[in-house]
Amino acid sequence: MSALALGEFHPFRSAGRDFLYLVPSAAVFELDEAASAIVDRLRESSTGTGELVAELSARFPAAELQETVGELLRVRAISVEGVPDEPPPRQMPPENFPLTTMVLNVTNQCNLSCTYCYEYGEDKIVDTENGRKPKFMSEQTARESVDFMLRESGENRMAHLTFFGGETLLNLPVLRFAIAYARERAAAMGKEVDFSLTTNGTLLRPEVIDFLTENRVGVTISIDGPKEMQDQFRVFHNGTGSYDVIAPKIRELLRRHQTRPIGARVTLTSHTLDVRKIFQHLTEEIGFWEVGFAPVTTSPNRKYAIAEEGFDDMLEQFRSLADEFLEFAVENRHHGFSNVKDTLEEIHKGVSKAYPCGAGLGLMGVSTDGDVALCHRFAGSDAHKLGTVRSGIDRLVQIGYLEKHHIADKTDCSQCWARPLCSGGCYHEAYTRYGETAHPNLHYCEWIRGWTDTCLRIYGELAVRNPRYLEQFEEKVAYEASQVN
Ligand code: SF4
Ligand code: SF4
Repeated sequence: MSALALGEFHPFRSAGRDFLYLVPSAAVFELDEAASAIVDRLRESSTGTGELVAELSARFPAAELQETVGELLRVRAISVEGVPDEPPPRQMPPENFPLTTMVLNVTNQCNLSCTYCYEYGEDKIVDTENGRKPKFMSEQTARESVDFMLRESGENRMAHLTFFGGETLLNLPVLRFAIAYARERAAAMGKEVDFSLTTNGTLLRPEVIDFLTENRVGVTISIDGPKEMQDQFRVFHNGTGSYDVIAPKIRELLRRHQTRPIGARVTLTSHTLDVRKIFQHLTEEIGFWEVGFAPVTTSPNRKYAIAEEGFDDMLEQFRSLADEFLEFAVENRHHGFSNVKDTLEEIHKGVSKAYPCGAGLGLMGVSTDGDVALCHRFAGSDAHKLGTVRSGIDRLVQIGYLEKHHIADKTDCSQCWARPLCSGGCYHEAYTRYGETAHPNLHYCEWIRGWTDTCLRIYGELAVRNPRYLEQFEEKVAYEASQVN
């Protein structure tokens, strides 16, 4: 009989037990002692089932070994040598895939001048200052956008409408209008709309906060941490830092807005990389419910770009915060480090991404004039346009884009065990780094693999020590559109 060989997996150890992350199925598989022994033996060399059973028979009954070999073959942790593991079919999303999240750029103007900003900074891709796009979205375009969203949401009962900018609250009248109109139209169609927005916090007056809480609008604040970090890059046009302006407003928001949890979104740079300190400040001193971190998107030669050693440092800090998260989760206590929770959810759902995110599929960005683009970061870019809210999605353009960006065509990623969760990474990051949205983000592979391994380890610990914690992630969703950052 043909020899057995190892399949494609990433091994990890948690809570004193051995696990495999099975790449073809994106499943986590716990090895019992016999399975561990088989995998260890096959690490040395391929061998036939008979020899394998004979070699291990002093430790395990032959019947148990036979059965375990069958199980490992079934989950594709091992394979029969010479029988190529069939590559999964290149599955494209179904036609007319419903829009789940529409990100509305109600303005491309901002009252801050953050150095690293992807709309105004050195790496911007859309001319927000001198370009043809209106500075503010009109009520008419907001109305057409809402109609577009509800139309494109297909059979889905729930649609997600996220407001973005520029600084979103600079166009409060249109934001108010869009919420009222969306609610009315959705009700008439038997649907519901979930609202959220991202803001820099500078314009959060009490009456604005009351409006947000009354309308159950989820709020994410872009903030970089304590004063010395916030004021490095998040500055007004005259160069003064914004911390002293936003801190009291955010505290007021957290005090008054009780209908939704409020999150912070932090951009990490080479100058502001103290993850633990930032987290502690934002959760304990300010009071955010959760904090998500993302490294700055930039070309590598900017002074604030994170270099290789910076990614190592960031990973160490993420790991230590993830360990703290674990101890909280074991006791069913809330911990606000959202990066780890988001990845745990994906692992639990067995997410295997054909695309890194929902951009151009379940998630689209709308610019101030109603052009529809891959996501909010491309809103207003003619090169990344998928249609308009008036004419709808150009399906040929969309299909061409989906064909071009499928993970099956990212040959650099084809041997990478982290590809079910990474799938090449953010298109905007890739465009900024390599000038090409379809290029995998090879500059941060080590970081991605290190972080994914950490999350798998946390997952394994929870699976053993508090499996009920993982039940919150039960619902299985393919092609989920989630990231708005
Ligand atoms: S970008 Fe890197 S980490 Fe991500 S799937 Fe490709 S090779 Fe793996
Ligand atoms: S991950 Fe990148 S491409 Fe995808 S939605 Fe977010 S910013 Fe856009």
